[in-house]
Amino acid sequence: MTSTIEFVEVGPRDGLQNEAVLVSTADKVELIRRAIAAGVRRIEVASFVNPSKVPQMADAEAVVTALGKPAGVTRIGLVLNQRGAERALAAGVDQLGAVAVASDEFGVRNQGQNSAESVAEAARIIALAKDAGVSAQVTIAVAFGCPFSGAVDPAHVVRMAKALAQAGPAEIALADTIGVAVPAEVSALVTAVRAAIAPLPVRVHFHNTRGTGIANVWAAVEAGASVVDGSIGGLGGCPFAPGAAGNVASEDVAYMLERSGIATGLNLAQLVECAHWLGGVMGKDMPSMLSKAGAS
Ligand code: ZN
Repeated sequence: MTSTIEFVEVGPRDGLQNEAVLVSTADKVELIRRAIAAGVRRIEVASFVNPSKVPQMADAEAVVTALGKPAGVTRIGLVLNQRGAERALAAGVDQLGAVAVASDEFGVRNQGQNSAESVAEAARIIALAKDAGVSAQVTIAVAFGCPFSGAVDPAHVVRMAKALAQAGPAEIALADTIGVAVPAEVSALVTAVRAAIAPLPVRVHFHNTRGTGIANVWAAVEAGASVVDGSIGGLGGCPFAPGAAGNVASEDVAYMLERSGIATGLNLAQLVECAHWLGGVMGKDMPSMLSKAGAS
């Protein structure tokens, strides 16, 4: 079992993109700064997608500009196509996050690409990043199940991961976009994908739609995933995945791992404080457990 994991904060992107409250650019930058103060070293700062489809992310460039370049921090821009990659690179992010989709139907609704097209587009995005001297990684969305077509064949996900690895990403992530996975499935898929793409790291991204999110993080780390996504306060969802609930909360993930002897680099008390601040911005209680129970 590993003694450290790398944590990726996705709150400013996945956390906010599905919220009815439009968060100001200044508050997004404040959220990012507070996350960094709490120990976050990799953070999804925005997605460079069509603002008419995802209005929450319309100020992506402004967020990156206002944030500047905090030392020692990797600012990730999520992109779905070449246009988004060009915008993110022009804005000056440190890493592109591409998205390949495990199901055709979700892919067409989310990004206008079927599964095979999304793999090809992700490879193009990785190549664009490399040409610009920037790293890139890729997430396989709906890797454990699709809201429209149901079950996803794990063998298909493994084939996708192998194909994506050829493009030279920094890592490949498995995302349970709609929160259907259970630990046994996570363990099996992380093990299989790891074997298929080694030595590339496997990152995991879970939503807590059915209460299995935190258990899935544990199963993934036990199976060798070395990078874990979380969202401060447990905010999150997907505009194109009906019923998807929040991401696993950063503070809940950090609590479980730190108390298990797995270092995350995160400060629990500061994360909880940040979740409370974010609750004030959003005008609601955060779904995370630790923001209610306290850090100790
Ligand atoms: Zn997500």
